[in-house]
Amino acid sequence: MLFCLKCKGLLVPNKEDPKKVMCASCGYKPRQKKTLSVKERIATEVKLEVVDKTIETLPLTEAGCPRCNHGKAFYWTAQTRSSDEAETRFFRCQKCRHQWRQYD
Ligand SMILES: [Zn+2]
Ligand SMILES: [Zn+2]
Repeated sequence: MLFCLKCKGLLVPNKEDPKKVMCASCGYKPRQKKTLSVKERIATEVKLEVVDKTIETLPLTEAGCPRCNHGKAFYWTAQTRSSDEAETRFFRCQKCRHQWRQYD
C-alpha cells in the first residue's frame, strides 16, 4: 500500500494510465523510477541466456574482430528494414563476444 507524500492520502491507480498511481484525495502523482520489476529482470536475463546459447550453435567464420583481433567469429544474417535491401551480416567474436555488422 502506498501513501501520498503530500497529504498522506491513499494512492490509487491512475485512471488515465493504470501503470501509474495518483493520490485519491489531492490528485498528487508521484514520479516513478523506471526500474524493472524482479519478474521482468528475470525474464530479460533468461532471454539473454537463450541468445547466448543460440549464438554458440551458429557457424564460425574467419573474420577479424575489430576489438581483440581474434580471427574467428560466429555469424548470421538478418534482413534489415525493407526486404529489397541486402541482408546484413552479423558477427560475434568467438573470444571476446564483441558483436558487429557488415554491409555488403
Ligand atoms: Zn495527496
Ligand atoms: Zn574479439
